[in-house]
Amino acid sequence: MSFNVAIDGPAGAGKSTVAKAVAKEQGFIYVDTGAMYRAMALYFIRKGINSNDEAAVCERLDEIEIALAYEDGAQQVFLNGENVSGLIRTEEVGMATSNISKFKLVREKMVALQQEIAKTTDVVMDGRDIGMWVLPNADVKIYLTASSYERARRRHKELVEKGGTKTLEEIEQDIIARDYQDMHRENSPLVQAPDAVYLDSSDMTLQQVVDTIMNMINEKRAVS
Ligand code: C5P
Repeated sequence: MSFNVAIDGPAGAGKSTVAKAVAKEQGFIYVDTGAMYRAMALYFIRKGINSNDEAAVCERLDEIEIALAYEDGAQQVFLNGENVSGLIRTEEVGMATSNISKFKLVREKMVALQQEIAKTTDVVMDGRDIGMWVLPNADVKIYLTASSYERARRRHKELVEKGGTKTLEEIEQDIIARDYQDMHRENSPLVQAPDAVYLDSSDMTLQQVVDTIMNMINEKRAVS
């Protein structure tokens, strides 16, 4: 049986950085489910299809194949055979992703793929619905968050390093809007699973968060 760690939380909480570090230390595979939804959203942006148009999005799902591969331990996401990992990190893609993620058929397609991976592989999987819907029996579940200001500050720092020009206030507004939509959608909204451990990283270092999760994994492994 595989060992599964689920990390959920709002945008910019540091889930992927933490999940990557934990996976590396444990020798697990890191599955970034947001990247899978983002790759799908890119397909619709490229086709000029409105990401809020459920009928237009859902009737094209059969045209899309999303696959994951790992290069030097880093996840690469493929859209119909093309590695799009470097093209999906903008907030424009983020919002389109949040739009298509509301649709039941989109979620069903992605969740099936994610459950298939976790069935046979030790994973740290991060997203919005992992602890509640994708891996309800995960061995360790974490709900990772931080204040919207702190999350925006971290995102802003990353974007400035990449040459972005958005202000901190704009980024905070983007994050708040996307979180609101993710938390209030009908299908698999972002909520803390009842058995997930709540971690607010606003005043924690990356290493403190990683250590906390590593301890939870080690304790669980010791009793199972
Ligand atoms: O985590 P990331 O910012 O890459 O996710 C982008 C968007 O994808 C989220 O805002 C959310 O709408 C959607 N998503 C989701 N379920 C997941 C992962 C991401 O609905 N498991």
